[in-house]
Amino acid sequence: MAVAKLIDGKIKAKKITDFVKRKSVKLREKYGIRPGLAVVVIGEDPASHIYVRNKKRTAESCGFYSRQYTLPENTSEIEVLKLIDDLNGDNVIHGILVQLPLPKHLDEIVITQAISPFKDVDGFHYRNIGKLTSGDTSNAFIPCTPAGCMILIEDEFSNDLSGMNAIVIGRSNIVGRPMASLLLKAHATVTIAHSRTKNLSLLASNADIIIVAVGIPNIVKTNWIKPGATIIDVGINRIGKVIDGKIKMGLTGDVDFDEACSVARAITPVPGGVGPMTIAMLMSNTLLAARLSKKLDENSLN
Ligand code: NAD
Repeated sequence: MAVAKLIDGKIKAKKITDFVKRKSVKLREKYGIRPGLAVVVIGEDPASHIYVRNKKRTAESCGFYSRQYTLPENTSEIEVLKLIDDLNGDNVIHGILVQLPLPKHLDEIVITQAISPFKDVDGFHYRNIGKLTSGDTSNAFIPCTPAGCMILIEDEFSNDLSGMNAIVIGRSNIVGRPMASLLLKAHATVTIAHSRTKNLSLLASNADIIIVAVGIPNIVKTNWIKPGATIIDVGINRIGKVIDGKIKMGLTGDVDFDEACSVARAITPVPGGVGPMTIAMLMSNTLLAARLSKKLDENSLN
């Protein structure tokens, strides 16, 4: 029985953060700019606090200036907007990230669109979305998770997706939609599937590349996978697993991993696949924001 190659997001993410670190040193030495990242977390969502902690730690390891705002659940929209306005005008901060999901009383669109498009390291501002969907990614901030997935995919296919059929399962603004735009730009033929899609298994089984971002464990079954397909599993699900006779909480993706390994050519594990890439791309976007703040081109950091 063939066993799929494991696509190791941790190793690739480390290469990216090492690169960012080197360029960040150059930026500081040559131009006196230290990339600055502000992360805002509102409320008590435990997963959000873990993500924010990891982002802060990685930013510091890249040599960035890092600031965290931890706001109570009942923070008003006006208070959040005032903070964003201050950060938009703060010269030491180049990237602003407001951790999602937000408490229910806060309007995600109002808040994400209040961040300056030039500090929008999450890539959620309409200016950056517009650039991505029109295929102009120059100096645009691409949402971190799909940007990370795309690097893993391009590595697998030596940067050539012409003639490939890709299916993106999930159409969120954070993952599915920008993922589809990136694949289209890379010349793949793209199907976007979602909760109202019919015959999903049939559509998926025609794909050379499956990217799944749904949040349902094992939604992708073995018979959905074309033999030799490449699978990028974005899903993060917390489930109870029986270990040594005890139920322990663990992470699993959207793909039936063990089964999929016998059919797929390559697959990302959960954890250790897409997750580390998301953080690495946040660092890369923050470096870009710092560089662009002084209108420096890529070669200026050689
Ligand atoms: P979301 O809830 O915004 O979107 C889920 C999408 O799945 C929707 O577009 C919906 O139409 C689709 N969907 C729901 N049920 C479906 C079904 N039965 N068949 C087909 N499609 C269905 O979620 P999201 O923010 O895009 O995140 C998706 C998953 O990816 C979650 O598990 C999340 O934790 C994970 N995630 C991981 C990372 C990472 O860094 N690894 C980053 C972001 C999100």
